[in-house]
Amino acid sequence: GVTIVGSANIDIVYGVERIPGPGETLLASSAARYPGGKGLNQTVAAARAGAPTTFIGAVGHDEFGEELLATLTDDQIDTSLLRRSTRATGQAFIMVDANAENAIVVSPGANADVTALTDSDRACLQSTGVLLMQLEIPLDTVREAAAVAHAARATVMLNAAPAHALPAQLLADLDVLIVNEHEACLIGASDDLATASATLAALVPRVIVTLGAAGCALYEDGAEVGRVAAPRVAAVDTTGAGDTFCGAFAAAISDGAAYGDAAEFATHAAALSVQALGAVPSIPVRAAIEEARA
Ligand code: ADP
Repeated sequence: GVTIVGSANIDIVYGVERIPGPGETLLASSAARYPGGKGLNQTVAAARAGAPTTFIGAVGHDEFGEELLATLTDDQIDTSLLRRSTRATGQAFIMVDANAENAIVVSPGANADVTALTDSDRACLQSTGVLLMQLEIPLDTVREAAAVAHAARATVMLNAAPAHALPAQLLADLDVLIVNEHEACLIGASDDLATASATLAALVPRVIVTLGAAGCALYEDGAEVGRVAAPRVAAVDTTGAGDTFCGAFAAAISDGAAYGDAAEFATHAAALSVQALGAVPSIPVRAAIEEARA
């Protein structure tokens, strides 16, 4: 199965003609509220892609927390390790413009309480096939979970988003690093994507750089080993595309798929997700991914 240690937020999404500048007020053309957070999105994506999935994260004792718990339960996700924090449930304020580009502000709230792994958390990480994490919870927790899972020989995956410098100890515990172009350049410390990607590929056995509508590039043992083209689709909202990719990829690997096949499965899942508004509502189920791939 797949275990995710990560964030959960309520996303408040406004459709706007363009992203407003400082001091500017715009009228939105639409307003909606969705479950979100990279951790939760990737958890839903892994579960819908067919993997038995466990989520380790935190929500508040509030209405938003109940909403997120219900979302997880609806997709048969194991929530027995979910923490209830005294802080408010995390919230993200998202604007999506006419070109499907977005601008986002996040209030972490309860996500700051995903700290100190319990014995039950450790037991879960020691028996999982795949551990998938992101960088929206405290970095120390990410580091600790990676170490526990790596020691137990789980496949440890990090989606290094939002971009942040990665400690050497964490890098040493990773089997797969997944980044978009922006994150690759920041963490790989170069404005040139090829240079940055090569830097990352020298640090982690497998690195995937997602390239938006161009698909993704796969690296293994320091060298680029292939590219997966994304199907041509009409994108309406790319929020959660990377999350869908990561969750579907983790599910495929947990199911025994080869590296390239898992990346292809994930590419089709992500392409489906950009064709509808919102992150969670647009995450496809396994049957839809397989149909798109056929
Ligand atoms: P992020 O969402 O993290 O910024 P990307 O923009 O690289 O990441 O998108 C992640 C994946 O989503 C891509 O590798 C691709 O498979 C898919 N994707 C994103 N945008 C499109 C698009 N316009 N058409 C088809 N697939 C897309």
